[in-house]
Amino acid sequence: MPTFEVARSMILASVSPLGVERVDLLSALGRVVAEDVAAPWDMPYYDNSAMDGFAVRAEDCRAGGSLRVTGYIPAGGAVTPAIEPGCAVRIMTGAPIPPGCDAVVPVEETEQRGDAVQLGEKVSPRQHIRFRGEDVRSGDTVVSAGTILHPPEISMLASFGKAMVPVYRKARVAVLSTGDELIELGEQPVSGKIVNSNALSLAAAIREIGAEPAILGIARDTEESHREKMAEGLQADALVTSAGVSAGDRDLVRDCLAELGVRQLFWKVEIKPGGPFAFGVKEGKPVFSLPGNPVSTMVTFEELVRPALLRMMGHRRVIKPYVRATLRGEVRKKPGKVHFLRVRVEVENGAYWATSAGDQNTGILGTMLRANGIAVLPKEKTAFSPGEEVEVHLLRGDVGMLEE
Ligand code: AMP
Ligand code: MG
Repeated sequence: MPTFEVARSMILASVSPLGVERVDLLSALGRVVAEDVAAPWDMPYYDNSAMDGFAVRAEDCRAGGSLRVTGYIPAGGAVTPAIEPGCAVRIMTGAPIPPGCDAVVPVEETEQRGDAVQLGEKVSPRQHIRFRGEDVRSGDTVVSAGTILHPPEISMLASFGKAMVPVYRKARVAVLSTGDELIELGEQPVSGKIVNSNALSLAAAIREIGAEPAILGIARDTEESHREKMAEGLQADALVTSAGVSAGDRDLVRDCLAELGVRQLFWKVEIKPGGPFAFGVKEGKPVFSLPGNPVSTMVTFEELVRPALLRMMGHRRVIKPYVRATLRGEVRKKPGKVHFLRVRVEVENGAYWATSAGDQNTGILGTMLRANGIAVLPKEKTAFSPGEEVEVHLLRGDVGMLEE
C-alpha cells in the first residue's frame, strides 16, 4: 500500500500533457501556453511621448528660456517633419516624437504665450520619451511555454496582435458513478436509495480546474453494466469512477477495469478518508477509482486526481503549496495513515489559523461545506495540541478575503 506522497508521485509519473490547440486569446485565459511566443516587432514600436507637453531638442532649452511652437501632434498623429532649431512641437501622450527631438517637456512645466512656449526648469536629453523597443525587443520571447495565461500575459499577447494562441488542450474527463443504490437527480428518494451526487461534485471539480467533464451516468452492479459504461469512459482522456472500489462483494470496479485492459498500479493508499482509492492506466490514459462516500470522493479528487489533470493540461506546478496554520483546538488521530482534516481557515494579522470544520466522520457532508482547507496530518503523529502548526491545503481562493 503506497503512502500518500508515493501514490501521488506514481499518478503524476503516469500522465503527461495532452495535445496542443490554437484558441482565440480570450478563450486562452487560465490555460497554459504550449510554445514560446516571440515578439514580432519592437515595443514600443516607435519613440513616443510619455506626457502631454512639448517635444524639443534638449540642447535648445535653457531654464526660463522660450521656444517657438511650430506644430501639433495628437495621439494617433502621423510622424511630422524634423523640427528646426529653437522650435518645439505640441505633443500628446503616445504620439510619435518628431525627428530631431530628444526630450519632452510636460505641459505643467511650461507657460504658453501666443505661438511661443516658456520653459521652467532645465531639460535633460531623453526625458519623458518612451523609446522604441525599451519594453520588448523584436524576437524576444514574451510568453514562454508553460506559462499560465493571466490578464498581463493576455495584454502582452494582445499588444502584439496575437489573436490566436497555442495552448494545451483541455482534458475531457469521463465521470462514472457505480452502484445499485443510486438514483438520478429528480427521482424521488426512497429508503435504501441515494441520489447520485458524486457525478455532480466531480464534474464541478473537473470544470473548476478548466477541464471538461462528461457525465456517463450510473453503472449498475452487474459486470455488463460496468463494462459498457467503462468502455465508453475509456474514450475520454481520463476516467474517474466513484464507489464500488472497497472490498464489498458487489465492488466490481477493479475487476471490470482489469478486464478492459486497465493496468492497476495500486489499490489502497495510506490515507483517511479515501483509503480504497485505486489507480490504473490503459494506453497512457489514467483511470482513477475513487471511493463512493461523497466526502472521500471530493477529498481524493482534490489530493490525488486534480494534480494529474492539471499536468495533462500542461500545468507545471500541479501541487498546491502548504500553508502553515496554527491549530485552535486539539486534534487526535490514529497512527499509520495521513489524515485529511477538514478545517476552517481564517487569517488574523496575516497569519493562518485553523479550526476543525466539524464532525470528521466521512458521512458528514456539512463539514465539507464548512471547510475551506484540508489539514494534511502526517502519518505517524497522533496528537496535535492547540497552538501547534499544521500544514494545510487551501480549498478556496477567497480564504482571508475581507467583507466590506
Ligand atoms: P462504496 O464506496 O461503494 O462502498 O460506497 C460508499 C458510500 O458512498 C455508500 O454510502 C454509497 O451509497 C455512497 N455513494 C456511492 N456512490 C455515490 C454517488 N454517486 N453519489 C453519492 N453517494 C454515493
Ligand atoms: Mg457500492
